[in-house]
Amino acid sequence: MILRFLRCRYESGAIRMLVGRILSPVHSLGPGNRVCLWTQGCNKKCYGCISPELQSFEGNNVDEQILADMLVRLAKIHQCKGLTVSGGDPFEQSDSLFQLLKIVRKSFDDILVYTGYELDDILNCCSGESGISCLKYIDVLIDGPYIRDHNVPECVLRGSDNQIIHYLNEKMRADYENYLQKGRVLESFCHDKEVIITGMINEVKQYE
Ligand code: SF4
Repeated sequence: MILRFLRCRYESGAIRMLVGRILSPVHSLGPGNRVCLWTQGCNKKCYGCISPELQSFEGNNVDEQILADMLVRLAKIHQCKGLTVSGGDPFEQSDSLFQLLKIVRKSFDDILVYTGYELDDILNCCSGESGISCLKYIDVLIDGPYIRDHNVPECVLRGSDNQIIHYLNEKMRADYENYLQKGRVLESFCHDKEVIITGMINEVKQYE
């Protein structure tokens, strides 16, 4: 199921989040059946970014509670125990990320979040005060910008090998290490005459 171009009719003062897309069930971005949320907006401008369409900060501005309800509903429909949040960079909206994770935490056994910030940047409040607060709701954090020259096929779950898998909840380590043994996984989803590929794509080398 793909939920893209969400429209929200509510204009309350509630916290909102810029959302790029939601897919479910996804198996290429972490162990088991997962709901995956891509936030909209990122300032890192990594060369070769796999999701340039998610860099702009213009998009679907969704009420947090509605977004949370949607993620939980999808998890029930597709029996997903895992949630992956990618982007864009979810930590560019750390206030909203914090509120969202707080609401959905109890509905998922495993929450994986990607960010272009490094963990130390988050700890130093580079992504705002809420960045640190987000960490207590995250089981696994994959950090760092995408560096095209460091995109190697052995680098599972990560776009490039400078990115680090941080097990903020050590209980998740075994599941993830098992999953990493499979190598990179790609999936494709069709929606509205569009194909969306999820997972980490190998860099195609250009030879002269
Ligand atoms: S951090 Fe991620 S979304 Fe942002 S520019 Fe880099 S690769 Fe793209």
